[in-house]
Amino acid sequence: MKRKYLSAALLAAALCLSSLTACADDQPYTKSAFTFDTFITFTIYESESSDSPEEICEGAVDMLNSLDGELSRTNPDSVISALNKQAYNSPVSVSDTTYLLIKSCKDLSELTDGAFDFTLGEISSLWGFGSDNGKKPDDAALAELADRKNYENISFDDESRTISFTEEGFSIDLGAAAKGYALDMLDSYLRKAGVTSAVVDFGGSILTIGKKDGYSWNISVTADESDSPVGTLAVNDGFIATSNGAKRFVEYDGVKYHHIIDPFTAHPADSGIKSCTVYAADGLISDALSTAFFVMGQEKTEQFYEKYKIAEYIITLDDGTVKTSAGIAADFRASQNG
Ligand code: ADP
Ligand code: MG
Repeated sequence: MKRKYLSAALLAAALCLSSLTACADDQPYTKSAFTFDTFITFTIYESESSDSPEEICEGAVDMLNSLDGELSRTNPDSVISALNKQAYNSPVSVSDTTYLLIKSCKDLSELTDGAFDFTLGEISSLWGFGSDNGKKPDDAALAELADRKNYENISFDDESRTISFTEEGFSIDLGAAAKGYALDMLDSYLRKAGVTSAVVDFGGSILTIGKKDGYSWNISVTADESDSPVGTLAVNDGFIATSNGAKRFVEYDGVKYHHIIDPFTAHPADSGIKSCTVYAADGLISDALSTAFFVMGQEKTEQFYEKYKIAEYIITLDDGTVKTSAGIAADFRASQNG
């Protein structure tokens, strides 16, 4: 049975009958939680489940918390920490889902020619991301770590589902992929639970399921932490990720250094792109490519798009110009002030 979450609306209707005031529109069920070190907000419009939306969201958050426990590089008990500590000395056995995730990350690193590089954990650490008392790394130390393509030094054994590192001196950092992958898991979870219309905001990464009252979702696209979006994207089912330097940074001697690293220089990326939003049918791809395009810059992003056509993008350049890929140009409405 299809249920709409109209409890507030029904209440409003009852109030209307008694007071003859104007009625509110249908209200969806919303719930926020904290996981993966960020806020997540579920908005559920329709479900065919006999479980309540509260129960569905609670189950979803439990699932996300356990995934976070597996994938966090700062949790010493995570499987990523186990890989980073031991995989050079002996193969590390991982779950099927982690195995496939790391394999997909290697594929995406190769596809982007290292602009997305999930093996730059040592560079992130050197810059002080993931710690409270970092200091500005010296250039020689960064130069040592630049342009390494360490993802080439990860090997897989399909039979035993084990992963090994064939070189020393690098570590996995899934910061640009874990949230997107978690949204893939969440998409399956919610659909299996019977959800047919919902939108989830996961620290700025968006998952949409179905449609909203039969229409596409209108998703605000932002290029920084201000409240003024660069525009609105109309989408149906899919995943939207945004990468920009405004979200997270460290500050040394009054200078801010953002968290998206150009693996070729080991410094914060400075490609001329201020912000990059990617829409794809897959959460991991949208997350990884938003980071990769931010690193690549406009020209390489356009070439990548023409070659692979696996995702759509909206990029805001440093001068404020907004560029969209051909496949979503008709669905993007730029803000008047943007
Ligand atoms: P956010 O996590 O803010 O949504 P991103 O998806 O762009 O932003 O991920 C940035 C995170 O990914 C960084 O904090 C770091 O952990 C990691 N990272 C930084 N640069 C790269 C890169 N070039 N390739 C892969 N991962 C990166
Ligand atoms: Mg990303």
